[in-house]
Amino acid sequence: MYNSTRSVNVKATAKNAIRKGLADDGGLFVLPNLGEGENLESAAAEGATDTQCCDVLIKLEPQDYLGKSYNEVVKTVFSKLLDDFSSEEINDCIKNAYTGTFENDEVAPVKKVGNMFVLELFHGPTSAFKDVALTMLPQLMSKSLAVSGKKALILTATSGDTGKAAMNGFADVENTAICVYYPHGGVSAVQHMQMATQKGANVDVFAVEGNFDDAQRGVKELFMDEELNAYAAEKGVELSSANSINIGRLMPQIIYYFSSYAQLVKDGQIGDGDKIIFSVPTGNFGDVLAGYYAYLMGLPVEKFIVASNKNDVLDEFIKTGTYDANREFYKTNSPSMDILVSSNLERLLYYASGKNTEKVAGWMQELKENGKYTIDDATKGEISKLFLSGSASEEKTLSTIHEVYQETDYVLDTHSAISYAIAKEYADAGKTVVSLSTASPYKFPQAVMSALGEDITDEWEALEKLKVANSDPCPAALANLKNAEVLHDAVIEKQQMRDTVIAAIDKLAG
Ligand SMILES: *Cc1c(COP(=O)(O)O)cnc(C)c1O
Repeated sequence: MYNSTRSVNVKATAKNAIRKGLADDGGLFVLPNLGEGENLESAAAEGATDTQCCDVLIKLEPQDYLGKSYNEVVKTVFSKLLDDFSSEEINDCIKNAYTGTFENDEVAPVKKVGNMFVLELFHGPTSAFKDVALTMLPQLMSKSLAVSGKKALILTATSGDTGKAAMNGFADVENTAICVYYPHGGVSAVQHMQMATQKGANVDVFAVEGNFDDAQRGVKELFMDEELNAYAAEKGVELSSANSINIGRLMPQIIYYFSSYAQLVKDGQIGDGDKIIFSVPTGNFGDVLAGYYAYLMGLPVEKFIVASNKNDVLDEFIKTGTYDANREFYKTNSPSMDILVSSNLERLLYYASGKNTEKVAGWMQELKENGKYTIDDATKGEISKLFLSGSASEEKTLSTIHEVYQETDYVLDTHSAISYAIAKEYADAGKTVVSLSTASPYKFPQAVMSALGEDITDEWEALEKLKVANSDPCPAALANLKNAEVLHDAVIEKQQMRDTVIAAIDKLAG
């Protein structure tokens, strides 16, 4: 049974947690039976009352992931974490999510680049790491809805990457539909065409006049619109989100930490049980948190490196214990990491504080009121044992892409370059470092080509040039994108968003 990070009394089954996304008290759903050792001792020291929470600790043994296929590890991890899913349901989800969607069955291959290992998470249908989770979440949600007899309409505001991955994942998934809203003129040409060409009878996408914040605020207002929610409920439809706080997005990301470790053991790069470092380009703290879950489940990890761009709120938090969102927001060349409030950090606070829901609730209240909070020394100490951090400027991002290309012929994208840049000193010191690579360089061709020394104003031209420079081939979906058929071209005002939702509810209800 899951409970909220803010109260042990707010509980949900895995299926309900997936359907709801957020807990009723505003907290995030977590599993109390993860994380032994200091966590449990400090929980006891804090006088945690919910003793039964810690009865059955969820652990994987090395034989659960060493020498196993990617999907076998998914099956093992899901059957432990999603306990109200039957094994047939899990098999179904795996088949629908990962058959023929990724370039190879490994899903996430590891490559040696210089003295580092790069974990490529971008071989899915939209060429970004969000595919790993957003191909699976719709399957998990569909099974979760089947119990309730309800249908779900997913509403998502996007600055580019998430929208396409979510549309692709939900396309033609039973009992669901999705409406995506992006700022008109505010996404790249590649991102625009990726969304505008998405097939599926249950997907819709709209360019909204204004910037990303306008689109995001618009979606928030729709979720809070009581009349609209009542209208949907009458028709058996729930409004839902594909946000990365959903446990259905978190769980699929745990797998590649295990599978990459297993791959290094298989290749003789490390011995079974050796501790390694993972470096993770971080925005909403979802990806690195999934690594932490793998660690709690027994994966031998020495450190996680939280890698930020110029928006370095997390780097500062890991170093000082103070989270301060009162700062300037920068738009950078790694846009998927441009974020000031990293929602999933709340889950780390829960475990690192010894599962102290009262403390977590207090910090989140402070964040809401003052945009800022400071954790206590014990929690800070727990986090410091395992987490390192750093941030890289836009210039450093580009120079890293340049240097890695010069030295190894490998082309990193801007997000992956940040992780690589910050992890480099540890690899140079002889550590085994896996640097997570979250997007194909072909998704950000202008920035990447400028790093390689050519400033090109037309994105499609930059893509063509990158095809020549990069020995790794361009994914077919991106290579053919410029001339693909446009299926969605609606441009709307923010006030019209509500009408698009009503139309989508009517269509989904049938
Ligand atoms: C979303 C995203 C990230 C950040 O991941 P979080 O889970 O939000 O920390 C990094 N890189 C790319 C390319 C992304 O799309």
